[in-house]
Order: sequence, then C-alpha cells, then structure tokens
Amino acid sequence: MSHLFGHNGAIGKGYAQPQPMATITPVSLPSTLMRKQAPKWPRLSEPEMVRHYTWLSKRNFGIDTGFYPLGSCTMKHNPRINEVIAQLPGIADIHPHQGEKHLQGLLSIYYEMQEMLAVCSGMDEVTLQPVAGAQGEFTAVRCIQEYFRQRGEDQRTKVIVPDSAHGTNPASAAMAGYEIVEIPSRADGRIDLDALRAVADETTAAMMITNPNTLGLFEQDIVEASTIVHDAGGQMYYDGANFNAILGLTSPGLMGFDAVHFNLHKTYSQPHGGGGPGSGPIGVKSQLAPFLPSPIAGKRDATAEELLHSVDGSWYYWLTPEHTIGKVQQWHGNAGAVVRCWAYYRRYGNGLRTMSEHAVLNANYLRHAIHREAEAAGVSHMFRDGAETIVAKHEFTLSMEPAKQAVGISAMDVAKGLLDRGYMAPTVYFPLVVPECMMIEPTETESKDTLDTFAKHFVEVLQQSPESLHEAPTTTPVRRVDEVYAARNLCLRHPFETNELN
Ligand SMILES: *Cc1c(COP(=O)(O)O)cnc(C)c1O
Repeated sequence: MSHLFGHNGAIGKGYAQPQPMATITPVSLPSTLMRKQAPKWPRLSEPEMVRHYTWLSKRNFGIDTGFYPLGSCTMKHNPRINEVIAQLPGIADIHPHQGEKHLQGLLSIYYEMQEMLAVCSGMDEVTLQPVAGAQGEFTAVRCIQEYFRQRGEDQRTKVIVPDSAHGTNPASAAMAGYEIVEIPSRADGRIDLDALRAVADETTAAMMITNPNTLGLFEQDIVEASTIVHDAGGQMYYDGANFNAILGLTSPGLMGFDAVHFNLHKTYSQPHGGGGPGSGPIGVKSQLAPFLPSPIAGKRDATAEELLHSVDGSWYYWLTPEHTIGKVQQWHGNAGAVVRCWAYYRRYGNGLRTMSEHAVLNANYLRHAIHREAEAAGVSHMFRDGAETIVAKHEFTLSMEPAKQAVGISAMDVAKGLLDRGYMAPTVYFPLVVPECMMIEPTETESKDTLDTFAKHFVEVLQQSPESLHEAPTTTPVRRVDEVYAARNLCLRHPFETNELN
C-alpha cells in the first residue's frame, strides 16, 4: 500500500462529509478516552482513492476471477439477476422498523422462501433468521434442547457426531452445553452403524451429520442411522452444507431427519467469502416448530381493509412461535441474502434438480480427469483417493500422503503450487480423517474445458520439483505465510496508529 499512501502532503481529500442540518452539541468524553493526537489518515484525492481500491480489487481472487474449487464451501457462480432484484428500491430501501402494511412484498418473499426450503428439505417449518450455517446449527440444537426440557428429559446431555464432521457441528453442540460423543467412520468413509448403536441411548439428545458426508460420499445407511437414534429417543440433525448434491433428488425429511440448516451462501448462490453476509435458515419437523426463533413470516387471507396493501390477495405477517427460544439475530436476519436466494430459486424452479445433477457430474468428471492425467504423466502413485468408493457426490477428496512419504510434497505444497497457476486452492487438511487431504468441489457452473485444464495443471504441480514447490507461491502478491505465526501473533493495529509510518 505504501506506494499510494507514501505521498505526504497529498493534494486533497477523496471524500466530503455531509453537513449537519442542525447544530450538534459535542458529547464530552472522559479525557482518558480522547486521542492525544489527531489520527494520521492519508489525505488522498478521489483518483488516488479510486486507484487504490481498484489496485486492491485486482489482488483479490474470487469466483468471478477464476476457478475456485474450495471443497465443502460450494463456491458457485452468483447470477447477476440476484443483485438486480436485491437492489430494487422497494427492497433495498426498507427500514426494518416499517410495519407489515409496508412490508407485504418482502414478507411474501420471506414466506415463499420458507415454503420452498420446507419443500426441498421435507421439513414442516422454516425460520430465515440465522445468518450462518454454524448459527443455524446452534439455533436448531437449542430448539432440540428446549424440546427435551419441556418433555422432562433433562438426562439427554450428549450429541453424537461422526469423526468426519465439520468442526462447527461439535462446536455448536458444545456451545449449547452438550457433551460431544464422536464415532469413527468405517474404512470406506461412511458411518459405522455398530459404533452408533453402541453409543445411542437415553442420554442422547441428537446426532448431527451431513449427507453426502464431508468425503463427498452418500451415506447409504442414513435411514437406518435415523432409526437407531430415534429408537433411543434422540433427534436427527442434518448439516445442510452439502445440499448442492441432493436438491430435488432426495431430502433430509425422507432420510429421517428432524432439523436441518441451509447455507444460502453455498447452495443458493448468495455470494460469500470474506466473512459474509451469509444466511443459515433452519427447517424443523413439527415437534420442534414451537421453539423456533421469531419472527417467522405467516400468511392468511387479507381483510377488505388490508387488500389495499396486499400483493396477491393474501396478508403476510410476522409471527412468534409459541415456545420460541427467542431471537438469534437482530431484525429479520440478512434480508438481502434471502432475497438473492429467492431470486435464484424463482429463476431455476424445477431446474434446481438439474443443478444438483450437474454438480455431481462435474465432481465425478474432475475426479476421473485428475486420475487420468496423472496416469498419463506417470505421477498417479503420488496421491490416492480419500475414499475407496467409486462414486463421489458433489465433491471428492485426494490424499497427498504418498507424495509426502516419497518426496516430501505435502497437500499444502500442492495447494500453493495451484495458486501459481491462477487457481484458488482447494480445501486442505479437512476432513481430518484423510491424511494430507485435498478436498475439491467444482460446482455445476464450471465447463468441461475448465475442469480439463485444472486436471492438467494439478498434474503439472505434481511434476514440479519438491524444492521449487516448497517455495510456492511465487506469483502472488503475498508469498507463503507462516500460518501459525500469523494466527498466534495476530496484529490488527493500523500502522498509522502505531506510528510506524511517521
Ligand atoms: C460451511 C459448513 C458449515 C458451516 O457453515 P457456515 O455458514 O460457514 O457457518 C457446516 N458444515 C459443513 C459441512 C460446511 O461445509
């Protein structure tokens, strides 16, 4: 940044503050909270500001700049029509304090989105309030907790998670006060029913699992697993982060689940990365519905008086479930994210099923293309599939363990080598059950050309010398960072504050 911020005595300010309409009496702060010196903000002209941010944006990598095979994250294309709709003044300019009379359009969108998610998941009731998958997990676990409290089943203190689970599952359950019971996966990467039977009992509150699982494999025994947990009196929680593989093909309801979260920023095309804004609605079966956070959008016939404001002859309103656990997010959750996802679903309709089929096809194609290219180049011994099974769903895993053993090339090295070839790296070191894991998810919107080229580049990386690969990336603005140092010694102070730029 210094090349732009270096001009002291710059020519102006790139902004103008609006003038207050009335005289404002300054608030008197205690002197201990007052700055001793004015902050040394750069004084830049508008063109300099524009150049700075444009320069920064060109150093960003995103789904709009290249292939982004980040597994478990579903980095799919974000159709521009979503943005157009979310920015319509009737939506974007709504103040959250406005009454139902003025919110009929947005409320109808909320209602339709709830209905659509309920249909896709086979659940009875949906709330759009949580703003992340992890928050949805926590919200649903809290609903399950209240459900058992009301039934007087306080002895249910445990939540079961498979060892391949995403870290947010045990974290959400632990935050709600549950003890976590981890069960091992079988050698083929799927759930071990005997291990589940051994732990499911009257202390089980729930089991949390994603399907297809984090190895990209469909849990064929899921109905049996649900029966085991239900027979023990527990509830089944579906981590919906992998919905991209099953939308329109099957549903958590059919698999026996009682609660589900959706990651609208994964499956339903809300842009994500950089921390949000996301949206993690949850759906539940009727026994859990009275505990959902409020508000939820409801619908009834409009009265004669209400017809004036009605969008379709109905009246949409906010309702509070009877035994609600309370609010989990301010206002109505991330309304913009809900609207974008609604636009996506309205655009696709039944085509959502085709989307899932293509996501699965692309993942399987890429998996085979990488093996094929590696075979042709004589480097297929450097990695193995993370699972023994032939069919993956929307994502797959590769283990770099053989390369690590033979020549010291790690999953991290391969990931960095891919950065040098213009790709975002796949997910690495997750799931934990696959050593030196790389997890790849192409999504449905990538072309065959993109996948073929990526497979070639992947193999090229494996042909690179271990020494040069340890140095990668060499073409990115920031070279290899020491992750441990960066996490342990995090520095969030601006250099202007620490006087380093004096
Ligand atoms: C992304 C993800 C989550 C958490 O969702 P966030 O929206 O990131 O909080 C949970 N489980 C799985 C399998 C995921 O991929």
